[in-house]
Amino acid sequence: MRWKKQLLTLTPYQPGKSIESVKKQYNLEQIVKLASNENPFGCSNKVLSALQSNQPGFAIYPDGYMTSLRDSVASFLKVNQDELIFGNGSDNIIQIISRSLLHPGVNTVMATPSFSQYKHNAVIEGAVIREIPLLDGEHDLEKMYAAIDDNTNVVWVCSPNNPTGTYVSKNKLITFLDKVPAHVLVVLDEAYFEYVFADDYYDSIELTRTYPNLIVLRTFSKIYGLASLRVGYGVANRSIIQALEPAREPFNVNSFGQVAAKAALEDQEFVQQCKEKNRQGLNQFYDFCKQQELNYYPSQTNFVLIDINADADKGFQFLLEKGYIVRSGKALGFPSSLRITVGSAEQNEGVLKALGEFLTEQKTAQLSGN
Ligand SMILES: *Cc1c(COP(=O)(O)O)cnc(C)c1O
Repeated sequence: MRWKKQLLTLTPYQPGKSIESVKKQYNLEQIVKLASNENPFGCSNKVLSALQSNQPGFAIYPDGYMTSLRDSVASFLKVNQDELIFGNGSDNIIQIISRSLLHPGVNTVMATPSFSQYKHNAVIEGAVIREIPLLDGEHDLEKMYAAIDDNTNVVWVCSPNNPTGTYVSKNKLITFLDKVPAHVLVVLDEAYFEYVFADDYYDSIELTRTYPNLIVLRTFSKIYGLASLRVGYGVANRSIIQALEPAREPFNVNSFGQVAAKAALEDQEFVQQCKEKNRQGLNQFYDFCKQQELNYYPSQTNFVLIDINADADKGFQFLLEKGYIVRSGKALGFPSSLRITVGSAEQNEGVLKALGEFLTEQKTAQLSGN
């Protein structure tokens, strides 16, 4: 068979280790998963009751227009219904954008390290990829702009960025958007938007009014705690949405996801509580890093990237055997760092205690010349 030859260079997405498999392998009673930036507090109780009282039928296809959810998101964001596109997670929207705009002969510009799916989809579509290294953990928008030419179709801006947790400031983003040519779609991936505390952050929805070549991606997987139900959305000028819609599968958001996301949106108190607990959790990590003299990137998300001054896989393995699943920075472009999701206060304390033990062990090994 004549597979696209670029497929042969790709490996499938490597999921974080599952709780069950780690339990078994290391004979542990309790496992804490801090690897995929899921919400440690689950989701709103309103979601659970909405799913009970509006049980969607298993045998019936979902509403392909997401009518009720669309109505809620549109009023929540104060946008028109035709300025929204929904996806089976925002991953799906990244795929729809790539499928719609990328092909051999065009290029796409992105930061590196950043979220892996931009590159993955661009490779599948056969586009040329221009990766611009982060500058102090942040997008280097000047260099990204310089990489744009007549053949550039999409630029990806991940803010706050995964895996560094850093964000693009309002001034820098606006300076950039002012310059990007109209034929280039700028994708602003805001998967962690709801966690942001920074003062100089922008109103991205407002920006979609000023810049007709901007699409903002958001998700119900992170602060809303609905990762398993797969709901994300994009906000953009109507003409962008119209162009993308034919590339969307007709029933790409399942009925349970639609009901759950709508109910989740209605509980902003839950969102605020999670945001505040996350901020306190980040401080637990920062205090530890200061004490241990470890470098980290100040984060606007629910994870933190910590340089442990040691082989990331070694640190990962040590924590795994103590019952904490985190992400090794190796595959993320930071070979001596760990990306750890902020958990509950107790989980944070636990993972930091274990990390402290690892650091002590490393120091002892160094002193004895190993
Ligand atoms: C988690 C994440 C996503 C994907 O979220 P889904 O909506 O679950 O597909 C997209 N972008 C970034 C940067 C993420 O971290």
